[in-house]
Amino acid sequence: MICVPIVAETQEGMAGAMRAAAGRADLVELRMDYAPGVELEPLLADRPCPVIVTCRPLREGGRYEGAETDRLTLLQRAVELGADYVDIEMDCADQLRRGPDTKLIVSHHDFNGVPDDLDAIHERLVAMKSDVAKIACMAKDVRDNLKVFRLLRNTTHPTIALAMGEAGMISRVLGRKFGNFLTFASLEHGRESAPGQLTVNDLQTLYHYKRIGPGTAVFGVIGNPIAHSMSPAIMNAAFDACGMDAVYLPFRVERDVVGFVHDFHEIGVRGYSVTIPHKRTILPAMDEVDDLVAKIGALNTVVNHKGRLHGTNTDVRGALKALTDALGGGDALQGLRVLLAGAGGAGRALAVGLVERGAEVVIANRTYDKGLRLAKEVGCAACKLDEVAEQRADILLNTTSVGMHPEVDASPVSPDALRPGLLVFDAVYNPLETKLLREAKAAGCRTVSGLDWFVNQAALQFELWTGHVAPRDIMEQIVRQRLER
Ligand code: NAP
Repeated sequence: MICVPIVAETQEGMAGAMRAAAGRADLVELRMDYAPGVELEPLLADRPCPVIVTCRPLREGGRYEGAETDRLTLLQRAVELGADYVDIEMDCADQLRRGPDTKLIVSHHDFNGVPDDLDAIHERLVAMKSDVAKIACMAKDVRDNLKVFRLLRNTTHPTIALAMGEAGMISRVLGRKFGNFLTFASLEHGRESAPGQLTVNDLQTLYHYKRIGPGTAVFGVIGNPIAHSMSPAIMNAAFDACGMDAVYLPFRVERDVVGFVHDFHEIGVRGYSVTIPHKRTILPAMDEVDDLVAKIGALNTVVNHKGRLHGTNTDVRGALKALTDALGGGDALQGLRVLLAGAGGAGRALAVGLVERGAEVVIANRTYDKGLRLAKEVGCAACKLDEVAEQRADILLNTTSVGMHPEVDASPVSPDALRPGLLVFDAVYNPLETKLLREAKAAGCRTVSGLDWFVNQAALQFELWTGHVAPRDIMEQIVRQRLER
């Protein structure tokens, strides 16, 4: 079930928010601590859906500052009025008399962290004759979610268990797989009642929350930061389009990515996308990597083959596919001269991939020495970035971050380097048309955008994980929508 907390401060505001939430959630939580002067009776009389009545005191992270006796009187009144649920804190739950129509949620909140003795706390909540036990704790690290999942998996008592904060966000989605009684979601951004809460819309349309069950396959992207990653939107839409029972989540891993992968093995994650800054540091967590990853020293994809973790790199394959498609397919890269601007992570990976395909590569990097070192390592040539116009080339491939939002008026090379017949490929996909691509088109060059690369690498990941043909059009549409916003 999805529950929307109503955090308005007036009678009309509460009633209006209840009506707005009713069609989108299974129940609402009336947070009476946000609305000291509001009368409960008319709200319950006109309720458009089942209701939890809560009046959270300051000591448990709420806003209620008045006398404890008044607070308990309000909650008792909610029981007498037949509220569907009343939520009361563990330390005073024994002071409430039960009523025939009201279920009791006995809760415990910890804003300092997720304690190791969650089971002991849960036992106390159950022993208080709760109909539903609720534990909400502040996650400090993504691994804290595992304590919540273990608790949910090991109990048969109706339980709400949540990790709060950005690090705990995944518990609000994935808890359902392990039997969470309900999750809380806000009506819209800015109306959250606790840190890390998602909106109802994100839960329903991005994560397809109601479809998650014990058998749902889990995938995700590991990175830091990760909140703005487009991958959850792309992959969840792809799973949805293929009717697959799967969910894809953002995992913000700040440190020890190897430990993270090891610990999350427990919940059987079926595949990861890996992004900055973990593409290299994750390698020791793999049981095996393919030759390309061994050569580049970086991966962006992990596939869980019956418990064994295999590392591969769809960044390189995705970029080479975009290039060869533009050239007519086959081994079109063989013998072509490629000017590769940039010697960072993407430049390095592509230098290896292009040399392997038989291209004659010249690396042009701002920091010339770094480009030269990479060139020696992979067996190709190097030049200065401002000498690109003097080089003969069939393909110009930009892997620098120049031209990326918000520096959209910059280009890594001068227009003199752009001649008819040259194929220009820009790794940058935000904006969709960079200054480099605009100038290349004006100069009569053929162009390939970073969008093709981005969608290709995601589509290849999807196919490796699922064995299904990726719904590429849908994936591309999601990226375009997000970038055009
Ligand atoms: P990175 O490791 O940080 O490397 C950045 C590269 O850009 C380095 O070569 C750096 O040169 C160069 N650079 C940065 N600022 C510059 C400037 N003002 N003038 C000239 N050169 C400059 O980053 P990365 O991971 O390789 O990614 C590079 C770009 O590729 C990013 O925009 C990324 O979004 C894009 N990318 C796209 C895809 C896709 O799917 N389309 C996939 C991967 C990457 P120095 O060595 O001199 O610092």
